[in-house]
Amino acid sequence: MTDLTRLPGHALARALRTGEASSREIVGAHLDAAERENRALNAWLVIDRHGALAAADAADARVAEARASGSDALDALHPLHGLPVALKDLVSVAGVQCTAGSRILEGYIAPYDAHITERLRAVGGVILGKTNMDEFAMGSSTEHSAFGPTANPWDLETVPGGSSGGSAVAVAAYHAPFALGTDTGGSIRQPAALTGTVGMKPTYGRVSRYGIVAFASSLDQIGPFARDARDAAALLHAVAGRDERDSTSAPVDVPTALVDLPGDDEAAAGLRGKRLGLPREYFVAGMAPDVERRIREAVAALETAGAVVEEVSLPHTEYGLATYYIVAPAEASANLARYDGIRYGPRLTGGDGGVLATYLRTRGEGFGAEVKRRIMLGTYALSAGYYDAYYLKAQKVRTLIKGDFDALWAQGFDALVAPTSPTVAFRFGARLADPVAMYLSDACTLPVNMAGLPGVSIPCGLSEGLPVGLQLIGAPWSEARLFELARGYEAITSGADWRALEPTDLAAASDQATPTPARRLAELAPAE
Ligand code: GLN
Repeated sequence: MTDLTRLPGHALARALRTGEASSREIVGAHLDAAERENRALNAWLVIDRHGALAAADAADARVAEARASGSDALDALHPLHGLPVALKDLVSVAGVQCTAGSRILEGYIAPYDAHITERLRAVGGVILGKTNMDEFAMGSSTEHSAFGPTANPWDLETVPGGSSGGSAVAVAAYHAPFALGTDTGGSIRQPAALTGTVGMKPTYGRVSRYGIVAFASSLDQIGPFARDARDAAALLHAVAGRDERDSTSAPVDVPTALVDLPGDDEAAAGLRGKRLGLPREYFVAGMAPDVERRIREAVAALETAGAVVEEVSLPHTEYGLATYYIVAPAEASANLARYDGIRYGPRLTGGDGGVLATYLRTRGEGFGAEVKRRIMLGTYALSAGYYDAYYLKAQKVRTLIKGDFDALWAQGFDALVAPTSPTVAFRFGARLADPVAMYLSDACTLPVNMAGLPGVSIPCGLSEGLPVGLQLIGAPWSEARLFELARGYEAITSGADWRALEPTDLAAASDQATPTPARRLAELAPAE
């Protein structure tokens, strides 16, 4: 029998409808893989076998009912019905721990479902568990998790990117066909690039953030990971849409095109005549020459297929990083004020037992170094006398960054093509000592968040044996078009050698006495 974990979601959905596989079999196969290989990868913080199998049985019962009432009822099931989904550990699932990768939330059990959790349950999706992440989504490597780093299945000595590294790895390592993450400055697209998966940050407002641990509220967006564009689009379809409980979620229709992407021939033909901009500023200083080569080859392939690619300029790109590191920490410092040891997570009482001492000890020991760095940066940027100089100024520059993109949409570009990450996956520890080097990992993704736009990263080959991601950026609400372009690129490269390659032999790696993440954790731990 074929290994069910190797099939994409749309193939599993077909198997479920024809009766070739049950949700219990599909979910069971993925749970087995996740449990077997998590020692080597540390991608999962919670694997909820019991809850997942119960949801799978319920999904199978629905399939049986639908089958009894005819093929229309089977067709009406959502493409995600009965299939496994991994959730970044900042999405609330009632009754399940939610840590956001932080000690300060260790043992905190979410009392309710996030909006996207409700949506997944409503379409019959099966939640397998919660995935590892940089603490409060601050980072680009998943090394800032309080629960140890996640390893990249393509090379276990390298990082998977971040902050949604666990979700990216769950998909890349075939533990789940679908995963959700959040992207505040690149945290879906950059790990997607580094693990050879598809990851989209939708338009700001496309998905409700109700029940998601907040990092920077004007930038955070939830989005999908999958191994191809069709699956990623179907997952976005399942969770998108207006929700009264998040006033920033927009009353914009969710396109049905997301669950009806074209087949290979139509998708490839659809590239003809598409006008794509290639922003010259995205070939940033420090970009690996071989990564640039892969991107230019992908652009050439799109041109051969009939797309019209023109070099364009986004002149304020260079200010993206600086403005992001004012806006994001400022908003984070406000959002993280709620973790005081009184309302959430463990409470560490101070020496005199007073409330101030409790705050200080809980926050002092509960937050990691990167989170403290952000709180200090943000508090400073918002403080009296500095607000105008930093926060307000950054918001003005943000408007200029958005204006760069608006000018291109006004000229009629269908999308922009760019690198997602300037380099492939880097080795553990390589950027830990230098926060600015870590921040530069997101130079090509941050401006898209600043402008509130959708962006998707898709695999476009390998460099040094590691995946490279191509980024497609679109006008607001153009997710379906971005996925159609992504489908087109998949169609014209479906025969490429690199498409057939798979990550490392994880079963063997899991048998090692001390797998990489455990060893890294030991190395990082302060000496007694
Ligand atoms: N790496 C960026 C940061 O550390 C972006 C993180 C994110 O998108 N959540 O802030």
